[in-house]
Amino acid sequence: MTRFAIGVDVGGTTIKGALVDERGTILLSDSIATPAHAAAAEDVVGEIVRIVDGIRSRAEGRGVRVEGCGFGTPSYSLGPEWIQTMSPNIPALEGYPLHPALRDACGDAIACDLDTHAATIAEHRFGAGGCFERSIFIAIGTGISCGIVVDGGTLVRHTYGTAGDTGHLIVDPVGRTPCSCGGRGCLETVASASAIRARAAEAVRRGEQTVLAELQPSPDLLDARDVFEAARHGDRTALEIFERAGRGLGVAIASLMHVFCPHAVLVGGGVSEAGELLLGPARATIDELASPFYRDQLQTVRLAALGADAGVVGAATLILFPSGAGPS
Ligand SMILES: [Zn+2]
Repeated sequence: MTRFAIGVDVGGTTIKGALVDERGTILLSDSIATPAHAAAAEDVVGEIVRIVDGIRSRAEGRGVRVEGCGFGTPSYSLGPEWIQTMSPNIPALEGYPLHPALRDACGDAIACDLDTHAATIAEHRFGAGGCFERSIFIAIGTGISCGIVVDGGTLVRHTYGTAGDTGHLIVDPVGRTPCSCGGRGCLETVASASAIRARAAEAVRRGEQTVLAELQPSPDLLDARDVFEAARHGDRTALEIFERAGRGLGVAIASLMHVFCPHAVLVGGGVSEAGELLLGPARATIDELASPFYRDQLQTVRLAALGADAGVVGAATLILFPSGAGPS
């Protein structure tokens, strides 16, 4: 009999939920805006539970038995109470023990992991990563983080259950752009959606000849998708922004290659919609910088397969295949 679980991807902008089967297929889904500026954690939990309850009742209406609910969160979940730590995008959750509240509302069959880990697990099991012994999934959105798979299916979890603050690898020691983490020159200051948006706004303010100046009434309203559209139509400024982002990404990947020796690097998250505009310069930079020994073992740098669904599918996988990323 087919097994089903609910996966919830708690993002800084949107909370997405889905009913997922053991083949990674989404049968029902729903999403709501994250109350990112809520004063109390309970307000955020209330919205998460609303998504779960809605999907559960629709599933039960179809006669589907839900095994449990998995949650992907953008912050570290520490200890058995899943205390949310490093939660700048949803400040109300900082320090909040998420497990008791979700257990009371959703039952005992719940699981939680970093959102990027959930997406990495989904890519490994159902997407583009499964045939590789070692792979790195890089999620590029408002921020950047990596899930690193070794030994054919084990997630690297050496720091707070994660592979570390991989979005803050230093890739720009000369420009030394200040980063939200307090450091300078991090990958996030070069290749994240926030960085792309900030560089586009700067270019417009400097008076560069670019179509970006016409896309929004104010440069502050530009987003990464505007820059992508401009680049696709050949706008020089937009192309240079992606070239720089891709090269920064390539520097970070080359450095990760020298530590983890991946056979595949899979790039996901909203910014990955830029495709070759980003991956082309990243591959060229890897070819320039990486040691041939590691380069020879890297078989592919490509887009992740599951796109925006990876988060919810991975969160459900935490329940359906609780051993993690590896094949059962
Ligand atoms: Zn940083």
